[in-house]
Amino acid sequence: MKILVVEDQARLAQLVKQGLTERSYTVTAVRTCAAARDALCEDNFDLIILDLGLPDGDGLDLLREWRKSGFNEPVLILSARDAVQDRIKGLDLGADDYLSKPFSLEELLARVRSQLRRYSDVKETVLESRGIKLDLLHHTAHVQGQQIELTRREFALLEIFMQTPGRILTRTFISEKIWASHFDVDTNLLDVYMSRLRTKLETTLGKPVFKTVRGVGYQLL
Ligand code: CA
Repeated sequence: MKILVVEDQARLAQLVKQGLTERSYTVTAVRTCAAARDALCEDNFDLIILDLGLPDGDGLDLLREWRKSGFNEPVLILSARDAVQDRIKGLDLGADDYLSKPFSLEELLARVRSQLRRYSDVKETVLESRGIKLDLLHHTAHVQGQQIELTRREFALLEIFMQTPGRILTRTFISEKIWASHFDVDTNLLDVYMSRLRTKLETTLGKPVFKTVRGVGYQLL
């Protein structure tokens, strides 16, 4: 597994690199946006760990640029900025996870494992997680073996959560996927749909399925 670490603080970069290398990951560490661009063009990575404040630019711009040009490697943002707005911005731009500094190496390693696991089983025609099974070919949904009826929208909504279980999806991200881009995310339409989907799933599953992340979005537990 190859990991690109973009971090300009030498000590932190060294610590992260060492921690990952000890767990048998192959690590390339760079300190600038320019070096990160070069590295990503030259090599394929399974995961990118990205700091936001870099000497020659902003990590968020780098992320935007990558997603625009079709690089879909999972990105874990590492940043001292823990304001909700920055977090939302990063997730909206296509980051997969976000860790605020300071963090423990153990937590970083856990997040890395979770990202790598998540991406290894995407692109299946049957998505299965948390007792929910979604057949994308036949458009059927089962909860603990029991078939449940979902509308097309509810199915689409559940599908985007099942593609990356555990990832926090922002309201903007969800709305753009489900209602195309001009939808006003301030309306409560999304909440209405989420609430219906929640009821259908939780009635059968008997436990919470989604977590509401206040001011941000939702997460499939
Ligand atoms: Ca920095």
